[in-house]
Amino acid sequence: MADLPSPYSVTPRKPLTDRQRLELFLSEKGRCCICGLPIRAASEAWDEHILPLADNGSNEIVNRGVAHEKCARSKSAKEAKERAHLRRAAEKHFGAKRPKKIMPGSRRHHLKKKLDGSVVRRWGPEEDDG
Ligand SMILES: [Zn+2]
Repeated sequence: MADLPSPYSVTPRKPLTDRQRLELFLSEKGRCCICGLPIRAASEAWDEHILPLADNGSNEIVNRGVAHEKCARSKSAKEAKERAHLRRAAEKHFGAKRPKKIMPGSRRHHLKKKLDGSVVRRWGPEEDDG
């Protein structure tokens, strides 16, 4: 089994210099590394981590590509979703899940508000303030 990256820590991201970004843009011939379509304006171009930092990707230039802003955002969102899914599964499996906070007013909460606005205890020690 491959080494899984820690779900709680990532390599800090390191921005490319303008020169590195330009070189990257030219070496990719101005094409998006995600959808493969040409990038028209340099302002649309984002430098992407091809293998995400969270999956042990590096900040090295070989792991960078240029992408449309839209493509980069949707790629990041998709990866974040997958990561959260994996983390939840792992937490559930190993019993490390943080307890859910009980929402005030719900049936699991020890206080309830009656229709007349008074707040009473559902369970637990009785309070004698009438
Ligand atoms: Zn694209």
